[in-house]
Amino acid sequence: MQVLALDIGGTKIAAALVKNGVVTQRQQIVTPQQNAVDGMHEALAQIVAQYQGQFDCVAVASTGIINNGVLTALNPKNLGGLAEFPLKESIARHTDKPIGLLNDVQAAACAEYKEQDVEKIQNFVFITVSTGVGGGIILERRLLTEPNGVAGHIGHTLADPNGPVCGCGRRGCVEAIASGRAIEAAASVWENPCSPKEVFARFRQQDPQATAVVHRSASTIANLIADLVIGLDIEKVVIGGSVGLAEGYLPLVQHYLQQQPKFYQCQVERAFHGQDAGLIGAAWWVEQNQAKLK
Ligand SMILES: [Zn+2]
Repeated sequence: MQVLALDIGGTKIAAALVKNGVVTQRQQIVTPQQNAVDGMHEALAQIVAQYQGQFDCVAVASTGIINNGVLTALNPKNLGGLAEFPLKESIARHTDKPIGLLNDVQAAACAEYKEQDVEKIQNFVFITVSTGVGGGIILERRLLTEPNGVAGHIGHTLADPNGPVCGCGRRGCVEAIASGRAIEAAASVWENPCSPKEVFARFRQQDPQATAVVHRSASTIANLIADLVIGLDIEKVVIGGSVGLAEGYLPLVQHYLQQQPKFYQCQVERAFHGQDAGLIGAAWWVEQNQAKLK
């Protein structure tokens, strides 16, 4: 089955044909910012037209939350003019093929799960630690998406009731402590402020301030993993994202997780896929669920 896959981000839209996990005819355009609604309808029309006749279904991985085909977010302001954009309906104007839509991190979770021995691993979580913290949860070999597309927003579970206020409005979320944005905020008030990338360089040079911030992030993620394991019987976690993949970070997460009682522990590995995770994962998910799509 040939899938037209789209990955819609805040700054760029990638599109490609995906068959058996192989990406071909990939292209990338800038996400429309001015007249965002009209621009997005137009961009989707052009993409579908370019691949017309070459696909059996459409798979979309998108930033935000996909609630019954409509784009939203925990904080809709983050989507600018695209809050409540009717993503599915817009694509359906140009094709009668089945259309499946996922959040982009949920799609990346599918891409990573696809690489596992699915006979052995039935409960799996992908966590991205990047500008924000996101996730995708697979239970009994199925991605949790229904009913509202919210599942997997584990960056907004509680890490510290006295922590900073998160972008979602809640105080002390994992994201408010562990994310790249949180690391940036912490480093911005140092006597010698720096970017998150530089925080990691200083961490590797054993600078005490940088070390404290990186350890706080990693221990927060380890606690999140422990909560997932004990709450959902998760067997394996894969970590991606710019912070998650920074040199020295994953061993630290593993170190903190190993300090928990045995029942809270699971395998933790680094992500396999790179920039095409959303395309590959969304295509895989649509193939698995085509009977349910219209
Ligand atoms: Zn939050």
